[in-house]
Amino acid sequence: MSPRLIIHSFNYSPIHDERSEHSPAVALSTTHYLLPTILYIHIPFCKQACSYCNFHFSTSMKTRDAVIDGICKELRTRRGELADGPVPSVYFGGGTPSLLTEVELGRIFATLQEYNYLLPATPASPQKTAYKTIRPQDHKNNQGGAAGAGNGLFPGLQAGSRPEGRGTAEITLEANPDDLDEATIANLAASPVNRLSIGIQSFFEEDLRFMNRAHSAGEARAAVEKVNRAGFHDVSIDLIYGGQTTTNEMWAENLRIATDLGVNHISAYALTVEPKTALGVNVAKGKIADTDDAKFQRHFDMLVNHLTAAGYRHYEISNFCLPGHESRHNSGYWSGQPYLGIGPGAHGFDGNRTRRWNVSNNAAYARAWAEITSPADFAAADGFLYDAEILTDNDRYNEYIMTGLRRDIGVSVEDLTRLFGAEKARHFVESQLGNVAAGLLQDVSDGTYRLSRAGLMRADGVAGDGFVV
Ligand code: SF4
Repeated sequence: MSPRLIIHSFNYSPIHDERSEHSPAVALSTTHYLLPTILYIHIPFCKQACSYCNFHFSTSMKTRDAVIDGICKELRTRRGELADGPVPSVYFGGGTPSLLTEVELGRIFATLQEYNYLLPATPASPQKTAYKTIRPQDHKNNQGGAAGAGNGLFPGLQAGSRPEGRGTAEITLEANPDDLDEATIANLAASPVNRLSIGIQSFFEEDLRFMNRAHSAGEARAAVEKVNRAGFHDVSIDLIYGGQTTTNEMWAENLRIATDLGVNHISAYALTVEPKTALGVNVAKGKIADTDDAKFQRHFDMLVNHLTAAGYRHYEISNFCLPGHESRHNSGYWSGQPYLGIGPGAHGFDGNRTRRWNVSNNAAYARAWAEITSPADFAAADGFLYDAEILTDNDRYNEYIMTGLRRDIGVSVEDLTRLFGAEKARHFVESQLGNVAAGLLQDVSDGTYRLSRAGLMRADGVAGDGFVV
């Protein structure tokens, strides 16, 4: 549903964006031990298929218990791949993580705590000191029940909605508005989750029906109001622009509502027509008009103008935040930080050269994990449970150029020289002479290359010019 594995795709301009401060210099050094690993957990279930979506998910819940079992087992089995100590960020993406029941989420957090992925709560209250095992069968007892804050399924873990929650780790959970009833919000507030990323996409019914979203326009706005009232101080929303049903006036209104709601982070993506989606099939058959680059350009300009005027920092091509509210997790991806990907379809990166991804099939994932009892078993599952690629020097350099240019920190020639050598740094500078002359890059006299407003719309091309192939 959101920004996830961004680095793996080179489909990057705002027009074609799929969608998810550490020193880049350190991140791309020869060892991955210098930066702590962040954790991504993929929850591969959705109520219904959005027409544009090509993420890994299933609307069948048949394998749900087995997949949650597998996720917990994968967390236990692969713990040794990380350094000791807590992780700085956990991101529940999907799919739809807000479909998790209180017990399912409690099982995952219990595993995270038992295997020291998370710091325990400061011992402020006696009932928050003991770890409690949550059994799969507890799911049945709690499903659909009215959960409440402090009901005891997250003992020993700090409730994330407290202001100090971000002081330990950023723990983000993607949520859809139709799941955010009072009971679910109360449950999340009692859990260690301290950042919600809500898949709003639009506040207009016409857009939502076109995208086949499960929620209504009323639920979209109400969801943000409810989580604000519940005390979540880190709330991000996703919006989609440039779609066939979205007029300029509707997009302007979406932006106005978003900033009026006071969220401190906004991710905005151009609607992408992917070939194997319902939208892609209908466009290919001529039943629906294709998207329009001129509209993307207009909506992107409106987006940047409105949000920067409202005080948001445009810190990555598709991401805006109020000061101090960058997504630590996504910033980690963009700066080459290692990440462990858990769950069906999840990707991981060792921070150096190896990228690995799990099978995008819930049943195959669950079957494999039912058999695995040790890290050796997991290693032997290469090829059917997961696959991997080894990045070359050129791959790493190209990714650095792409992710650097997409961020407002840009690409520094000094860093390029240190990380990849004088030859590649010279290649980059020479490759950008034309783009500098065309005004696609800002003033580069300080040796840092940042996209101008015009350049942002052509990010893929500008970065591609600097690649070594
Ligand atoms: S909620 Fe929609 S966009 Fe998000 S993963 Fe599910 S189908 Fe895809």
